[in-house]
Amino acid sequence: MEEYKRDSLHPPRETLIAFVEKRLEQAGIEQIRQHLEVCEFCREFCDDYYLLYESLRVAEQEELPLEARALADRLYHAALTGRVIPLQVLRPGADEHELPLAADGDRQAGSSSDQVLTLYSEDPEIVLRIMRGPQPDDNYVQLISDDMSLVSHVLIQAPQLDREFVTDDHGRAELGDERLEITDEVKWQLKMPDAVFDLEPLVYDPNKTEYSRQVTLETDRQDRVEVTFERKTEGKQITLRVLELDGREDFGDVKIVVSTPQASRHAQIGDDKTATFAIDDPDSTVNIRLFTK
Ligand SMILES: [Zn+2]
Repeated sequence: MEEYKRDSLHPPRETLIAFVEKRLEQAGIEQIRQHLEVCEFCREFCDDYYLLYESLRVAEQEELPLEARALADRLYHAALTGRVIPLQVLRPGADEHELPLAADGDRQAGSSSDQVLTLYSEDPEIVLRIMRGPQPDDNYVQLISDDMSLVSHVLIQAPQLDREFVTDDHGRAELGDERLEITDEVKWQLKMPDAVFDLEPLVYDPNKTEYSRQVTLETDRQDRVEVTFERKTEGKQITLRVLELDGREDFGDVKIVVSTPQASRHAQIGDDKTATFAIDDPDSTVNIRLFTK
């Protein structure tokens, strides 16, 4: 039987759910117990799911509605907030890790990129491909998952190389001319956002004579960001000031990623906790994501 090592491999989510619902065999129970002793992430998920499961069971003595699974899904994503997901190198011939990913093999024809290295995380199920080719355009990293929320606008980090890449809508980040030393020894990881905000276009409709020049966006997890709009002759821009992150005002270094369907931009905020971004299309929703170190 597989062993779940500290930090490197979590039991599948379905197994954790089965554990909470007391549907596991004795051996499986013992294994999960041992893992929960060392893994805060899975412990948090099990605790949250237990509360949810119990409350629903009390409410409906009969069968557990599908809603519970949808809620479990949301809890799971909430538990991923700000997490670092370590990736492991997928070694050729290790066919115990056949990963059934729908987006696999979807590459357009005519690409001259060679796959240099494939890495993966088992739970959540994500694959990272590092691609190299003769042209700068052929050099990129591609994240693949059935769950796009795990791969779009996240950070791909290689701490030993001191490099960090922000993925686009489709989970891709260009490497361009970056010369990276890509070996099996280099650790790669994903960083999930600590806070996500959506700025609706209505809020800064430039066609209205009067529109709010400043708004504060907040999440239900005590994250707050102040948005200031400026109309300039050459376009629109917004200035973001991070007020609070997870209820704290001393949150340290934060990277901000601002995306519209057309473009994605990112900036590291300074001591003034602000960053300014140009907005090309004032009619689309602006997605704002904060990443702590
Ligand atoms: Zn775990």
